[in-house]
Amino acid sequence: MTYKKVLVAVDTTDEAEDVVKAAREIADEKNSAISIISVIRPMTDFYVNLYSTLEDGAKIGIDSQAVESATAWLSDLAKRYSIDQSAVTVIVGTPAVEIRRLAEKLDVELIVLGTHGRHGLGLMLGSTANAVLHGAPCDVLAVKVHAEGLD
Ligand code: AMP
Repeated sequence: MTYKKVLVAVDTTDEAEDVVKAAREIADEKNSAISIISVIRPMTDFYVNLYSTLEDGAKIGIDSQAVESATAWLSDLAKRYSIDQSAVTVIVGTPAVEIRRLAEKLDVELIVLGTHGRHGLGLMLGSTANAVLHGAPCDVLAVKVHAEGLD
């Protein structure tokens, strides 16, 4: 297969390194351009009760702090794998939805992600990986991630 454009999706876990490394190798081999995305779940997903008591400004503040620190982390990761800063996306939303949306927008031919991340321990294929696969606009490569507690 020729993949002119590849999108790699990572969450902020140690496994991200293996996933990006695999994407970089494919891109080098196929001479593809790489983009990278990390999706931040809105804080409402975690603290529904607390969140509902906050003013709108405070809600935006919490999410934007998370975006800021994820952007610093992802930019550093991208830099180490020679991915252009203009190809780095951090966005608040539902991971699978935003990954597929960006893949469509950029018209990539391959999405690279890990078999497991934060939400996939104990599953055959993580829940985000599974959701991306269903309805993906292109090929999807799930890189086998050897996390603690997995086979
Ligand atoms: P999971 O299905 O959540 O166990 O994660 C499987 C893989 O999907 C991870 O190794 C990442 O490559 C990707 N992924 C999971 N969550 C996100 C996220 N929030 N943003 C971008 N990629 C993600």
